Amino acid sequence: MANPVILVVDDEPAVLRAVERELRGHYGTEYTVLAADSGTAALDVIRRLALRETPLALIVSDQRMPRMTGIELLAASLELAPDARRVLLTAYADTDVAIRAINEIRLDQYLQKPWDPPEERLFPVLDDLLSDWQATFRPSFEGIRLVGHRWSARAHEIKDYLARNLVPYRWVDVEGDPEAQRLATAAGIELGRDPLLVFADGSHLLDPANETIAEKVGLRTRADLQTYDLVIVGGGPAGLAAAVYGASEGLRTLLVEREAPGGQAGTTSRIENYLGFPAGLSGADLARRAVAQASRLGAELLTSREATALRLEDRYRLVTLDDGSEIACGAVIVASGVQYRRLQVDGIDPLVGVGVFYGAAITEALATRGQRVAVVGGGNSAGQAAVHLAKFAASVLLLVRGGSIEAGMSAYLVDQLRALPNVTIRLNASVAAVRGTESLEEITVEDSAAGTRAPEPMDALFLFIGALPRTEWLAGIVERDGAGFIVTGPALARAADGRVAGWPLAREPFLLETNVPGIFAAGDVRSRSVKRIASGVGEGSMAVQFVHQHLAGL
Ligand SMILES: Cc1cc2nc3c(=O)[nH]c(=O)nc-3n(C[C@H](O)[C@H](O)[C@H](O)COP(=O)(O)OP(=O)(O)OC[C@H]3O[C@@H](n4cnc5c(N)ncnc54)[C@H](O)[C@@H]3O)c2cc1C
Repeated sequence: MANPVILVVDDEPAVLRAVERELRGHYGTEYTVLAADSGTAALDVIRRLALRETPLALIVSDQRMPRMTGIELLAASLELAPDARRVLLTAYADTDVAIRAINEIRLDQYLQKPWDPPEERLFPVLDDLLSDWQATFRPSFEGIRLVGHRWSARAHEIKDYLARNLVPYRWVDVEGDPEAQRLATAAGIELGRDPLLVFADGSHLLDPANETIAEKVGLRTRADLQTYDLVIVGGGPAGLAAAVYGASEGLRTLLVEREAPGGQAGTTSRIENYLGFPAGLSGADLARRAVAQASRLGAELLTSREATALRLEDRYRLVTLDDGSEIACGAVIVASGVQYRRLQVDGIDPLVGVGVFYGAAITEALATRGQRVAVVGGGNSAGQAAVHLAKFAASVLLLVRGGSIEAGMSAYLVDQLRALPNVTIRLNASVAAVRGTESLEEITVEDSAAGTRAPEPMDALFLFIGALPRTEWLAGIVERDGAGFIVTGPALARAADGRVAGWPLAREPFLLETNVPGIFAAGDVRSRSVKRIASGVGEGSMAVQFVHQHLAGL
């Protein structure tokens, strides 16, 4: 944490230097002493300090300065540095002005010039003010501050992006937190709908793209090399496991992740069934550990980068990324998982991020404190979200389309849900409509058994209604099943001669290999895979063994 600052302001260079020297000599070990030769220069310094969250303990300003007087400066500093102590240096003739300013600008002291000797006439006064300031000073958060409206969809996206990329930030709510206005004033912008990001170095960005944020916070978005042994597409459990094994076994390994490492697993509040964690662990924790492990072993991880095309050239597989760059490699593991299926009902799209959320139960849980929330889905992911949200929300309504909750959910979760007093489970139920102007206000629940529809006031709706692979970018390259999942090994289509259609090699495709040699699929994106974290991890690790065998045969 930077030392707190004492700011001295005087337009007479000789006086300014003298005060600066005295203060540095006396306070220099605990405070940084800065000097400004005018009111406007001082305001610039105060603004920069506010943006960097460097605490300003004391302003000592001369009263008689051209353009901006000391009192005007101290008044203007109130909003930017409300907690700083304020001292005015006056000539005898200004005493009345100083006394009048005491209430108006919360002036703490005025000192008549000259104040020699400082040990008697300057330091005791300032010591007293500084110890008073120290007693009330609370060190502020030093990382990124995200200033936004609770009902801003883009602010929600940025929150989710930062959290999932393990970038610490502090949320500053425009409506409830006075710091929002202070940061906006310091950044020189009008607070509007667009989220504002203020970084530790004092710089700021208004509604930046994720890629810009990634670059600013030091996440890697560009590959170091042009050629790798192995490129992995997707940073979920399967991709991360492949990165750990690939890098640890000496392959030059690059992992490309569109959003944030962790994949679907990264959005889970509690994983209870992953081997070796008897007390369970959160998806974020698993992702953090896996990223650290893969990086330590030498894998290169790109985030906010999407693979958009794949082509073949001799023995190389070329992966195109969304910035137009192309990476050559000997083998590709596609571990791109699945994406949430979207609910198709009237009025829902404008409310996504402002009351309607796909997945985001962890990021938004705190914000649902005391609210009415609904969770839609009959699988474990919906059950886990409902259990987690019940810790914060006033009530959780779980809507399950089928007639039995046990059909799709693990027994331990069903037991947990039934024991929670603020959770209501409704079977044969689905959402038929949503309504809200600025944010979600109401959902219409359809009961398919009773044939009824009824409106329910609702503050937030979390949807876990299944998932689809997004493998369109691989169409025409690798074989996919009817739903778009990638087909591998024994499940590949065979020609009349019993061989895999179009397969050019003498050997058979490996278990996790597609119909193109050197292109593998692992985890949820693979046709007929078991949709579980452990199986994704297992497949990602196994695929690396097949990559070695493929590369050895080149
Ligand atoms: C809320 C929730 C709770 C769950 N709880 C459990 C549980 O308790 N236990 C359990 O075993 N399983 C659980 N699951 C299932 C488990 O999370 C998945 O089976 C597992 O995450 C699949 O891993 P994966 O690596 O195959 O794919 P994913 O986790 O889906 O990861 C795929 C990654 O690829 C990225 N990607 C996609 N396309 C591209 C592209 N073109 N370019 C770059 N990147 C791309 C995505 O952004 C994503 O990060 C849960 C799932 C959810 C949603």
